[in-house]
Amino acid sequence: MAVKADAKVVVVGCGISGVAAAHRLVSAGFHHVRILEASARSGGRVKTGRLGDNIVEIGANWIHGPSEENPVFRLARKYRLLDPEALSPENQAMDVGGHPPYVPNIFCSSGRKLNAEDLHCTQELFAELLDESSNFASQGGEPWSCVGDFIRSQIQQRAAEKWKDINATTRSLRLCMISNMLKLECSINGAHSMDEVGLGAYGLYKTLPGLDCTFPGGYEGVVKNLMAELPSGLVAYNQPVRCVRWNNTETRENPVMVECDEESIAADHVIVTVPLGYLKKHHSALFHPPLPLHKLHSVQRLGFGTNNKIFVEFDSPWWDADCEVIYLVWEDEDDMVDQVPDIPRSWIKKLCAFTVLKPTERYGHVMCGWIAGHESEFMETLSEQEVTLTVTQLIRRFTGNPTITPKRVLRSQWFHDPWTCGSYSYPGIGCSAQDLENLMEPLPTKGSQSQPLQVLFAGEATHPHYYSTVHGALLSGWREADRLVSHYSSVSPSERLKSNL
Ligand SMILES: Cc1cc2nc3c(=O)[nH]c(=O)nc-3n(C[C@H](O)[C@H](O)[C@H](O)COP(=O)(O)OP(=O)(O)OC[C@H]3O[C@@H](n4cnc5c(N)ncnc54)[C@H](O)[C@@H]3O)c2cc1C
Repeated sequence: MAVKADAKVVVVGCGISGVAAAHRLVSAGFHHVRILEASARSGGRVKTGRLGDNIVEIGANWIHGPSEENPVFRLARKYRLLDPEALSPENQAMDVGGHPPYVPNIFCSSGRKLNAEDLHCTQELFAELLDESSNFASQGGEPWSCVGDFIRSQIQQRAAEKWKDINATTRSLRLCMISNMLKLECSINGAHSMDEVGLGAYGLYKTLPGLDCTFPGGYEGVVKNLMAELPSGLVAYNQPVRCVRWNNTETRENPVMVECDEESIAADHVIVTVPLGYLKKHHSALFHPPLPLHKLHSVQRLGFGTNNKIFVEFDSPWWDADCEVIYLVWEDEDDMVDQVPDIPRSWIKKLCAFTVLKPTERYGHVMCGWIAGHESEFMETLSEQEVTLTVTQLIRRFTGNPTITPKRVLRSQWFHDPWTCGSYSYPGIGCSAQDLENLMEPLPTKGSQSQPLQVLFAGEATHPHYYSTVHGALLSGWREADRLVSHYSSVSPSERLKSNL
């Protein structure tokens, strides 16, 4: 016990995975745990903001699959952060496979509003193809390298049979709807295009039962409650880690030296939780010696893209009272594309849907637009006024109502956040489960004679099934803390002393 208490552990990053790792270590009796956080706040991609009087989520929005197996749900329940509806057994039992059945309103670029039934059979076919895309991970084989090509090829084949009695105008509109659905999938996956999402690994992502729910007081409540149970002063803010020197021989006691701008900290173990986007950009400066090649290749193969939100508030709604999602279908997009050719001129075409914030009594008339990819990254470079003007023009065009004017607009800018460099991870082309294994593998790798578990890796991108989620990040933090806990349970105090001499 005394040995475990003496071990120096540094956690890099104070997002949910870093907080979870520190929490677990402190609870297990580690006395020397520090979190170094580059920014001025904790939470990372769990970030609650304000739009006027409303609480809005700049980052994570929902608990995906709020049911017993989901640790974020269990914590949120423990800290009393959820509405009764989210806690109900009925809500927990609903299994929607990651696609909640929201009530839609559909608007077209000519200003027409479609009936929900017009969408239904296209949506069914699309859902069927996503299901089939998921099967390759367990069945093996990969008829196409990416999800986008698979979906396009199958629609072409199946539409010839299924839609043979449909007139050309309706058929073309359905293909335009497919473009819209592909763009929405880009947002869900955090990818620029579904042509960049690997088909064989797409099904590695697993969903949990439960109808997605939100936090009435903000997602950050989970982080704040966990932080309140940590000793004060454990986190150092505005402390970006520049280099993790592992296999370090300069100090005899500690094998790792963590270098910040003005301070170097000696440690026995470092848990790195920086986002994959940051790792892709800065790995060569961040690790000395560099990451082993197989790990680096997985960092490069795994995808990390941008998905942003644009919140728009109105004095009165222009959608139906029961509407939960608004789809915008461009009628010139029957080529099943999810990328915009001229981004500076037409980036707004990638904004494919708005979700309506509910309940109305709490939020008023606020909706959240979703935009992914390079178009989203370009949007981040524009002024708030330019974004507001373009969004206003879009809504006026699709509703055919030239008087609609937003009251307030707020957008996220995850790509230009220097400590995130995008939104979340997805399996890129050529990825397999092995890449996720490689990403989470501690350094030095197995078989090395050096001191084990010098550098450990947590964060959403390291979870084998729940990557891109808050629960995946949380579980990864616990996983790496448990790795250290069991290491110290299996190493006897005398062995541990020897390895330090
Ligand atoms: C727009 C958006 C919507 C999302 N929606 C959902 C959702 O509805 N449901 C869901 O489950 N998930 C959602 N997610 C994903 C979820 O937010 C993340 O998976 C999760 O929060 C990641 O946690 P993390 O600890 O792995 O990383 P992060 O939260 O990114 O934490 C990493 C921390 O490391 C810090 N850092 C980076 N570099 C350094 C350095 N050099 N030195 C020190 N510190 C450093 C960062 O500042 C950050 O605080 C969404 C994400 C985004 C962006």
